[in-house]
Amino acid sequence: MKKGYITEIFSSFQGEGPYAGRRQLFIRFAGCPLSCFYCDTSYARDPRPNLCNVLLPGKKTRFKRNPLSTSEVMDYLTELLTPDVHCICYTGGEPLSSVAFVKEIAAEAKMMQFKNFIETSGNSAREFASLADLFDFASIDIKLRNHGAVEEKDYDDLYSNELECIRIAVGREIETIVKVIVVKNTPVGEIEGICKDLAGLDVLFVLQPVTAPAQPGTKELFELSEVAGLYLHHVMVIPQVHNLWGIH
Ligand code: SF4
Repeated sequence: MKKGYITEIFSSFQGEGPYAGRRQLFIRFAGCPLSCFYCDTSYARDPRPNLCNVLLPGKKTRFKRNPLSTSEVMDYLTELLTPDVHCICYTGGEPLSSVAFVKEIAAEAKMMQFKNFIETSGNSAREFASLADLFDFASIDIKLRNHGAVEEKDYDDLYSNELECIRIAVGREIETIVKVIVVKNTPVGEIEGICKDLAGLDVLFVLQPVTAPAQPGTKELFELSEVAGLYLHHVMVIPQVHNLWGIH
């Protein structure tokens, strides 16, 4: 049985993308090799946190010592389960940094009839390929050059991995969401280039205006959405909603 480092386990409403508002059980895996300037979960970038917070609705947060075993994680998920749960969301941090642990949990979850949803930066196509078959939904980011996710010299490699993860997900008939965070003055040509690279792939393409700082204006969002629509069938602009609701 595997053990791994988790920042938090909790039940909430999905706050991003086309499944916003669906109740999900979130496992936030610890550690992320990227450094996006807008990161709102920087506390989850520590790969070895001492404690995992288990947030049970209406009860006090429980602090559990890391690393946790797969069976402990399954026990918490069972405790959090409510009739409205849509799926388990594997998020981070970066779940691909804990691939063996994620696979073991996702396989157990499948056996328990849960649906699995992974949120990833797509930084490793090799790791993604090794676990993709366990997932029903994949939300894969494409980072822009001005996000600061990696050094400029490493950007092309990151972008190739993200594209490859998307191709793998579509090829394995996983419902695939591609998410791009957009800030003020996002180059239209960069979004167009990405959409050209995605043309012909059956993806839900989400432009997500950054929550803060440097939010783009409505006019910019219309322009970016229109250019994406030249190449892709399913284009949407969806802000993060959990911040509006003031929930975790
Ligand atoms: S990939 Fe996600 S967790 Fe990692 S730095 Fe970027 S926003 Fe933060």
